[in-house]
Formats: sequence, structure tokens, C-alpha cells
Amino acid sequence: MTVSLPAAYAELVRIERWGEERQLLAAAAIEPGAVLVAEYPIAFVEVQPHEEDDGALLLLESILATQDREAHDRAADLKLGVWTLSGRETERLAHYAAVYRRNPKKLTQLYHRVAANNIRYAQGGVIGYGLWPIVSRSNHSCDPNARLGASEGQPLLELLIATRPIAPGTAICWNYLGDDSFLALDWFARNAQLLKDFRFLCRCSRCEAERPPEIAALPKAQIAAWFQRIG
Ligand SMILES: [Zn+2]
Repeated sequence: MTVSLPAAYAELVRIERWGEERQLLAAAAIEPGAVLVAEYPIAFVEVQPHEEDDGALLLLESILATQDREAHDRAADLKLGVWTLSGRETERLAHYAAVYRRNPKKLTQLYHRVAANNIRYAQGGVIGYGLWPIVSRSNHSCDPNARLGASEGQPLLELLIATRPIAPGTAICWNYLGDDSFLALDWFARNAQLLKDFRFLCRCSRCEAERPPEIAALPKAQIAAWFQRIG
């Protein structure tokens, strides 16, 4: 199933194959401040502060529990991120597979998609985790050209807003950490944070330029292991 963009936004952005995955690209010359995407989630779960660490698991369970076929299919179309699951994750997935009668392998893959694409939402006293499939076709960058913003009067509506002029064909990217102070950190501190919160090493142009030469040649898995050792 492919993700289609609402007609109103198709003039500014499009989703196209870019490298190994489908990516949100500028379809025209874009001015700073332009709203590139306005999207409601296909799935959302509100959490209490003590549940924040389990945001992705709770979001997966909400999709399984509602038996919302469309949310399920669209979640299965999200980009896949894979890492080694924790004991806690493995245990919960086995539990969900039994309760909701799912194929454990397929369920694990769905979880990897949900966990790699969920976005934390905090607005108007509501804190939760959701899936916004068009927004999640834009990658993180430590030198972003857009930012994510909630819409005050419209709960759960996420806006992707250009923060600088963007040339046609350029990938739209934003800072997944939200906070501008993250962008002031050095390569080590940024990637330690990204690995901890989102489980990836950043390959943005800024990170490629700032990555220390002594680890530049190492394979991805070794760099992740190295961060775990020093963390
Ligand atoms: Zn980066």
C-alpha cells in the first residue's frame, strides 16, 4: 500500500524513492514558514509519565486492540528499523502474540516499524505516541530544513513547517529531538542521544562531515557497540 499525499500539499512535497527508502522531497521551491504537511495520526496512544519508556509497545498494543485494519496496513507500510530487542520487549511481544493471536515473526516486524516511526506528542496537557505516516517519510537531520509543530486548536494534528528556503528535489528533514540545544552539541553527544532515543547513528551531511576519522571507517554495528561501552 502506498501513502498518498493530500492534494493541498502535493504541490509542495512528494514522496519518492531516495537512496534506499521512500522519502519526502520538496516538489517546488519552498519559502521558510511554508506548511509542508498537516497530518492526523493513523494511530495514537495517550500515556502517563511512568509509561513513557513503553510508548512504542503501548502504541503497538493499541493498534492490535482496536483491530483497525487500515491503521494496521498503513503501519506495516512504514519504513523498517531493526535492532536487537531488549528482554522486556521480547517478553511483551510474546504476550501480545498470544493475546491477539498474531504470528510472532510478523508481529515483531510490525513492532520494529512502529518503534522506528512513532513520534512523541505533547500538546494541551496530552502526552502520547502516534504514527503520522507522511511526516515519518522525512528523516532526522542535525542541519534540518524543517521543524515539526503541533497545531494548538486541532489536537493531534502535526505540522511540518519549512525553516529555510528549500530547493526542489531536496529531502525534507527535521530535528527528531525537537530542542534546538541538541543542534549545538558535538558529533559524539548528538549520536549518543540519537542512539539512546531512536536507535540509529545519524548519516546527515553534518554528521558525515563531523564524524571523527578514527571511527569513520568502522562498520555501523561496531560504532554502536563502541557508544555502548563509553556510555
Ligand atoms: Zn546528524
